[in-house]
Amino acid sequence: MTTLLVKNAHLLTMDDHQTELADGGLFIEDGFIKLVGQTDSLPDTADEVLDLTGHVVLPGLVNTHHHFYQTLTRAVPAAQDANLFNWLKTLYPIWARLTPHDIFTSTQTALAELALSGCTTASDHLYLYPNASKLDDEIAAASEVGLRIHASRGSMSLGESKGGLPPDSVVDDEDSILKDSQRLIQKYHDPNPGSMVQIVIAPCSPFSVTGELMKQSAQLAREYGVHLHTHLAETEDEEQFCVQKFGHRPVGYMQEVDWVGDDVWFAHAVWVNDQEIQVFARHNCGVAHCPTSNMRLASGIAPIKQYRNAGVKVGLGVDGSASNDGSHLLAEVRNAMLLARVKEGITGYSLSDDPNRKLMTAREALYLGTRGGAAVLGRKDIGSLETGKCADFFAIKGDKLGFAGMHDPVSAVVFGQPVNADYTVVGGKFIVKEGQLVTVDEQKVIERHNKAAKRLLS
Ligand SMILES: [Zn+2]
Repeated sequence: MTTLLVKNAHLLTMDDHQTELADGGLFIEDGFIKLVGQTDSLPDTADEVLDLTGHVVLPGLVNTHHHFYQTLTRAVPAAQDANLFNWLKTLYPIWARLTPHDIFTSTQTALAELALSGCTTASDHLYLYPNASKLDDEIAAASEVGLRIHASRGSMSLGESKGGLPPDSVVDDEDSILKDSQRLIQKYHDPNPGSMVQIVIAPCSPFSVTGELMKQSAQLAREYGVHLHTHLAETEDEEQFCVQKFGHRPVGYMQEVDWVGDDVWFAHAVWVNDQEIQVFARHNCGVAHCPTSNMRLASGIAPIKQYRNAGVKVGLGVDGSASNDGSHLLAEVRNAMLLARVKEGITGYSLSDDPNRKLMTAREALYLGTRGGAAVLGRKDIGSLETGKCADFFAIKGDKLGFAGMHDPVSAVVFGQPVNADYTVVGGKFIVKEGQLVTVDEQKVIERHNKAAKRLLS
């Protein structure tokens, strides 16, 4: 048995009572939390003792939407100032050149960045497989970094010649997509508590796959009890595409292809009306909110407050790094809080109307980034620091210049300029220690990544 004692920290548990301990700690056994409480209530010793005096400790952040490979195409000049459809059309031909080595390399870069931002579980959506690339390349790279991964077997089958958006060169035939999806579930999917790898079935978007593939994907996922994920209602362009091609708005189209249920979560879900929010609530669908990407691509502002009021599960995602162009999940927490406030402002909110009405708080934004994300991914073993849960957390030291004068250590990490984690721990194992990645060599990751990125655009 291996034990780790964390002590003397300001600890936010994110349990049902939002318990916060000014001098708290964790006692961890074999990767799971055995005890959580005041430091003086915990055992005195362990195999390893981590004294986090002056640090805030939070549950590990959960990233519900990303495209790791896009870290190779950040800030491409021709795609810097385009909206979604034009951005995609510019980048598809570049992505068609990706190799298995690029998938491996970009996965490590994205996960290293995520780990340094406090993330301990990430979902990735890989939806193109050029030049014999496989989801296996991503899973192998992730196991070296040490974060939990929900690897989505994405797909595109509706090319330009059939009325879709992507060029035919990056779409695949549907039989091989389904066969590969089944192979991956059988090979990697682990539904048990503490799972490091889960497989998700994830046709890319309404404008890049057929309705038939959506239906068959849902059938396959339900046969094996794995989750379903896709982009939905991201932009007004997509809404028009769905109405013209399928005779439904995006959410209606999902109902038509049997894509509603507590095993489904949608990335973005910006362009929805009140009835559609109720559809999500009734069927317990989840939403991956990606505020930075939505701002970067001028997609719109998702109605997070309405989702929350209706009881819809909401988590956060950094989205593909070419539409962010970073993988800093704590920065996403901050942007989620700020963008929710922008939405309040532009929808006529006035403090004088209701002085008791509160704007989204820092702790609420952190909830979305932790427990919200865990619920969206269907995980009961992560998202909060409670007995029996995975020992996934991150710690930030409070004596940084940007925190000087802050009067609330938890809010400081959201209201303040986003900083990197000093410690990130997954299942009791250190991924980041004293601000440094310990599972991979950061400099080597950067060098390998820049070389691959340069080749891709040459
Ligand atoms: Zn995306």
